[in-house]
This record gives sequence, C-alpha cells and structure tokens, in this order.
Amino acid sequence: MPTILHVAAECFPLLKTGGLADVAGALPAAQRALGVDARLLLPGFPAIRAGLLEARQVASLPGRFGASALALWLGRLPDGTPAYVIDAPGLYDRPGNPYADAGQRPYPDNDRRFALLGWLAAQLADGALGDWRPQLVHAHDWHAGLAAAYLCQLGLERGRRPAASVFTVHNLAYQGLFAASAFAGLGLPAPFFRYDGLEFHGQLSFIKAGLQYSDKLSTVSPSYAQEIQSAEHGCGLEGLLQYRAADLVGILNGVDADLWDPARDPALPGHFDADKTVGKARCKAQLQAELGLAAEPGALLFGVVSRLTEQKGLNLVLAGLEQLLAQGGQLALLGSGDAALEAGFSELARRYPARVGIRLGFDEALSHRIFAGSDVVLVPSRFEPCGLTQLYGMRYGALPLARRTGGLADTVFDCSLENLADGSACGLVFERFSQADFDAAVRRAFALYGKPTAWREVRRHAMARQSGWAGPARDYLDLYRAALAAAAIT
Ligand code: ADP
Repeated sequence: MPTILHVAAECFPLLKTGGLADVAGALPAAQRALGVDARLLLPGFPAIRAGLLEARQVASLPGRFGASALALWLGRLPDGTPAYVIDAPGLYDRPGNPYADAGQRPYPDNDRRFALLGWLAAQLADGALGDWRPQLVHAHDWHAGLAAAYLCQLGLERGRRPAASVFTVHNLAYQGLFAASAFAGLGLPAPFFRYDGLEFHGQLSFIKAGLQYSDKLSTVSPSYAQEIQSAEHGCGLEGLLQYRAADLVGILNGVDADLWDPARDPALPGHFDADKTVGKARCKAQLQAELGLAAEPGALLFGVVSRLTEQKGLNLVLAGLEQLLAQGGQLALLGSGDAALEAGFSELARRYPARVGIRLGFDEALSHRIFAGSDVVLVPSRFEPCGLTQLYGMRYGALPLARRTGGLADTVFDCSLENLADGSACGLVFERFSQADFDAAVRRAFALYGKPTAWREVRRHAMARQSGWAGPARDYLDLYRAALAAAAIT
C-alpha cells in the first residue's frame, strides 16, 4: 500500500468553510481503514493549530515566501489521522476566514501563503523534513496546486521525481489567479511560466499548475468530470482538461457515517432512521420553535444550508419564495455570503416571521438540525461539482429538490412515475436553470407531499441509500496505482 500525503487548506473538524473540509476530514481516515498510511498537510491557521492533538515540532526551516520563521508540526486529528501543520505565523496567523479579510477581500499575499503549502508537500516527499515520506502527494483544489509543480522541479534537478501526484478539483471556479509578477516569488524555473505551465491568459494560475503537472486528475463526480471539459463549465481550462481527459476521473464524495447519522447525532433533539421516523417529527417541531416558525406539523418545511453565492442558485429560491409560502410552505435557511441575498432573505423573514426563519453565519450543529427537521432540502445550483447537502438531506429524510447538474445529476433521482415504480426516486429534479422550472419542481414537491404513502416511500428509499466513504476510498486507491505507474514510483 502506498504512503499518501493529502494537501488541503481546510479540514473538518478543525476548520471548515465548505465541502472541501468534509472531504479532507473523512477521506484520509477511510483510506487508513483500508490499511493505507494516509496523512495530511495543512496550513497553520489558528483554528487548525488549536485543534491539532498531541502536536510536536518535527522540523524547523529558514524563512521562505515572506515568512520570517517556519516550522513543521506533526499531530493528530480527533479521529487519529496524522496531520502535518505548517507553523508560519506571519502568513497564517490571521483571525476569521482563512482566505480573505473581514471585508471579504482575498489576502494580497495568498500567492505566497499557498505556494508555501505546495512547496512543503514536495519537501516532505523529498524526505527533507523527517523520516516519513509519501510516495504520492494528493493535492486538493488551487491552494495545493503548486505541489505538483514543485515535485516536477525536484524531478528536473534530481533526474527523478520524489513522488507521484494526484490533483482533485473540488470546484473549478476557484482558480487561485495572481498577477504574473508573483511568479518571481515562487522559486520555480522560468520555463514553468509558459502556456503549458502556470501561465493563464497572462496571469499566474495555481489550479492550472495542478492540472498541468499532476500524474492523474480527478474531480468529485462523473458528471462534473465531463462538464468541465465543455466551454460552459470549463472556466477557460476546458482545452487543457480535454487534453488530459484520459487522466481525469470523477469520484463521488461520500458521507461520513459517524458524523451524519440521524439515529445518534448529538446535535439533534430526536433520533430516527429509515424505519422509525417519530424522532424526525420531533426534530421538525424543535426546528420550527428554534427559528420562530409557526408550529405546524403538516406544513411542508424547506431547508437551505449553503454558501450564499451565485453558484448555488438561491436567487431562484428568493424569487419563488412567496409562491412557495402561498402553497403553505415554510423555509429554514442557514448561510452567509452575498450581501444582496442576505438582505433579500432577511427582508422576507421580517415580512413572514412565522413562515421564513433564517440564520446568517456558519453553524455546524444548526446545519444538522435543519437537515433533520426539514422535509425538503433545496439545492438549485447553477453548477455543482458534487454537492454534499443533498446527500446529508437524504440521510436525514429531507428530500433534495435539485437542479440536474454535476454531482446533483449523479445522486438525485426524480420522483417521475418510472423512478417511483423501480424504487430509484429519492428527490425532485429540475432541468433548466430557470424560475419556471424551479417553481414547477416546488409545486411537484407539494403534490407528492399530498400523497403521504408515496412521500414516506420515497423518503425511506432516500434514507436507505448507501453513500459512505469506503467505495470512494477504494476508487482513489485505483487512481493512486495508476499515478504511481505513470510516474514509475515504486
Ligand atoms: P460547497 O463546498 O460548494 O460549499 P458542498 O455542498 O460540497 O458545497 O459542501 C458544503 C458544506 O458546508 C456542507 O457540509 C454544508 O452542510 C456546509 N455548510 C454550508 N454552509 C453552511 C453554514 N452556513 N453553516 C454550517 N454548515 C454549512
């Protein structure tokens, strides 16, 4: 079994802003359960350093990338997974969001902050920092994109690359673009800044480094793996992705069954499973009380747990909300982001306090209570690499109402008559990103809810679906074998 180093900017439960953290927190542990020595490399953001258990310093290095002092720590996540953490206070020790300041402006030195992450991954693979060496570096998203470039640089210097590399795209829309002048600070040879390197329309692209220099590529659903090869979803990188199509696979994310189990989730006021759903009714009543909604057990309760961004399509929810309420529905929303969406939902919550309950911010425990208390979870995304909230919704008996795109298309099957007949129905799916299609799906949710036997049957199927991490962990192992063979690493 190969030794693996996962490189990511966030990791649940230490630090989470989105689905990347869920994956980085669950995949290494699932691989370790298969007997693989998988470890993590993380930047030393305050929350990560504070959450690392049994931490001890394993290396100290001269300053680089603008950091006056650098050290590498080794500790464990709460589930026991070993994690290396980069201690570089000048770069990482900033309160709040790991990527941006209080005004949501990306930090001006993000190029150096994340170049350090990739560079240290390559140093670990080179055996420079201690006795443990990964045979394969698995880098996640643009923050870790330079790892493969630094491995290639070492390969050029030594005549042999120290490790194989896999790069996973969790969201192609976030690319890590910087001014070309930032290249000089990376310490890479000049030829790396070419059209077949880090250069992207005159800028410097971290995600392109990952896509260009890694042995194998993956993204988080088979549909998204196809979509990103098109002009519509390729974000300008579709040509490169087409060129690398033979090295690119889509592997769906799993659900961490220990953290997301409605039968024993400590965040919930009632417990339930696919066969015994009394506890779900208690969760719904408590959620209505918590958010100040009318205590109506029969009202169809829609939940949203989401970053409030253009990608997530929540403008459709906002524009369709009064129609949804007029049909007797309620909305529970947890999220933060776009100021116009925050203001729009706040205004409707003010106008309809008994029917719209919102919380702006990030709250892990409340997110669990929303999935458990809702009847439907809304995921009307414009695009969605994998999407986790529809999977959590299904496990917690909230049927996803989702647009057919990316990972949503691969995991949510509509309540059409044929899907109801063969038992695959587990949600409500709409095709085009349009208000009319979204509103029609909402009306179909009410129609299905009006047939309690059919509703319960679909909910039972949704809850019984298996989407753990063991399958994806094995699929990544197959990808690692292919990457090791391609890099001739044994
Ligand atoms: P993305 O990574 O694009 O944000 P995903 O659906 O893949 O979307 O993952 C989002 C993750 O973040 C899920 O675990 C979801 O429950 C969580 N999440 C999103 N917004 C919030 C919030 N405001 N509070 C708590 N959890 C949230």
